[in-house]
Amino acid sequence: NTDVRESMYLVSEFAKTYFHNTLLNSEEGKAIGYSYFKERGFTNETIKKFGLGYSPETWDAFTKEALGKGYKIEFLESTGLTIAREDRPFDRFKGRVIFPIQSMSGRVLGFGGRILTNDKKAAKYLNSPESDIYHKSKILYGIFQAKQSIAKLNNCYLVEGYTDVIQFNQAGIENVVASSGTALTPDQIRLINRLTKNITVLFDGDAAGLRASIRGIDLILEEGMNVKVCTFPDGEDPDSFAKKTSYDDLVLYLENNAKDFIQFKASLLMNEAKNDPIKKADLIRDMVLSISKIPDRIQREIYIQECSRIMDISEQVLVSTLAQLVQKDV
Ligand code: ATP
Ligand code: MN
Ligand code: MN
Ligand code: MN
Repeated sequence: NTDVRESMYLVSEFAKTYFHNTLLNSEEGKAIGYSYFKERGFTNETIKKFGLGYSPETWDAFTKEALGKGYKIEFLESTGLTIAREDRPFDRFKGRVIFPIQSMSGRVLGFGGRILTNDKKAAKYLNSPESDIYHKSKILYGIFQAKQSIAKLNNCYLVEGYTDVIQFNQAGIENVVASSGTALTPDQIRLINRLTKNITVLFDGDAAGLRASIRGIDLILEEGMNVKVCTFPDGEDPDSFAKKTSYDDLVLYLENNAKDFIQFKASLLMNEAKNDPIKKADLIRDMVLSISKIPDRIQREIYIQECSRIMDISEQVLVSTLAQLVQKDV
């Protein structure tokens, strides 16, 4: 229903402005939220560009303000901004710093909220629930700010988190979007596909990031796009790495460490399998499985050649392995 969605967009836009103003103008917002972002190294310009905000500790500060301005409880609840409980509606994001999530055209669809304490019991990030306007599998954080740069540079950096996107922007790299905690989906990749055919995956330098990169590769290949992977040192993510690196060194690092998926998988082998022929065979099968996802036959052929060269195995063997995997048009 268009009217319902329109009302949800309006209240979300209001919330973005409220959280942003609270961060910049209220005593609590300045002392807690603003100083948190400053500590992370975000400039005023960055805070403005991403419309970052703060939701007060008081359990219904935002909800009260919105109701007072005439926004209906129905839409506060359907957007998830307000949680109804025994006639005492309260603010979902209370006491958190706020990352507004915008559509490609800049509409506010939802929010991410981060806690400021190190309380391990509470979820570090909280997101808006799925709703008629917020479908987390179909949106990429930062796409509104990134779209021009992605098209112009004909490449998109894909990171995991909000702060990775923001720190890269501040470093001067704007063609970057985040999957924001959800496993990458085909719809998210298609969103990038409208702007460029080239994706460079920059996931966190930990086991989870590595696993997510490997999974992401096949999904991107299935969409007929080119994928590179650049890993970070153990324990670093794009945010922490960019924060302590100059622009020139960051660009250099990305250039020197972005590998196409065949090289990336080959380097995993060098670490894990070394001279173990069984593991080497497994990895080669795994590479061919990735190649089999590529829709274009000529492209598949090119990667088979590269795989053959890098892994020092005959093209013939690879082609017959591929043929078993690709029933269509072989
Ligand atoms: P920070 O640097 O603020 O600690 P991060 O972005 O490095 O956070 P990660 O733990 O690497 O956080 O997670 C990547 C992304 O996954 C986050 O930016 C967020 O979008 C999402 N995420 C992380 N933890 C949660 C959670 N508990 N619930 C929902 N989403 C989460
Ligand atoms: Mn992580
Ligand atoms: Mn991270
Ligand atoms: Mn981080």
